[in-house]
Amino acid sequence: MKRRDFIKLTAAAGMVTASGLGYDRMIMAEQPPGFIPKKTGSQEVEARIDVTSGKVEVNPNILMRNSACLGCYSSCGNRVKINKETGLATRVMGNPYNPSSAQPHLAMETSLLDSYLSFSTYRDMGNEGRAALCARGNATLTAHHDPNRILVPLKRADKRGEAKWQPITWEEAVKETVEGGTPFAHLGETTPIEGIKDVHDPLTPMDPANPELGPKSFQLVHFGGRGDGRTAFAGRFTGAFGTPNNFGHGYT
Ligand code: SF4
Repeated sequence: MKRRDFIKLTAAAGMVTASGLGYDRMIMAEQPPGFIPKKTGSQEVEARIDVTSGKVEVNPNILMRNSACLGCYSSCGNRVKINKETGLATRVMGNPYNPSSAQPHLAMETSLLDSYLSFSTYRDMGNEGRAALCARGNATLTAHHDPNRILVPLKRADKRGEAKWQPITWEEAVKETVEGGTPFAHLGETTPIEGIKDVHDPLTPMDPANPELGPKSFQLVHFGGRGDGRTAFAGRFTGAFGTPNNFGHGYT
């Protein structure tokens, strides 16, 4: 486009705006009669709300589940939208019942139908306590569908530091972790490794010359855990096993 044509075009657009014509009408004015917009990638809505009467019509094709976001340790309330036909989660959003997601949040006794109104312009409710997740919380859906998401145990497939891994079954992972032995013999590493059952001994010192290091059971060290129940489970397991060496994600 020539510079002169560009200036003429922008001047014309300025006049249209100044005359009070809305942007949407500017767009539609350029469409031929009977124009039907192309279908976009928009999802089916979960419910339709008559913002005059407050009547809610729920879409039977969509399943909504109130849950908690595990994008970080805050565990904000979220809602997960699931397509009933495919069984896939298609969206995550804020939970209006949760004080971390909505302010003011809904009372727990509020019906699910009424909760829909809190997202709408009915009585301006959507502008008062709109529930939302942060950007990271919204990105949890991407993590959920990530093709590189690790879903099975991975075993080192080369020398340490080569970053090569092979998937193994849960049965193999449990057997090798519990029984130890030489699980990397095929890589030329033949030094035996103690399994969990070998160190399940809360009485024998792990090093008789340095008894202050504690019994053999202290050799079991667990790292990790999340606020979804795994932390409590790991604490009970390591406590029953006889080791105090249980460290969470944020322990220092
Ligand atoms: S919504 Fe954001 S702040 Fe809340 S748990 Fe998820 S990631 Fe954390």
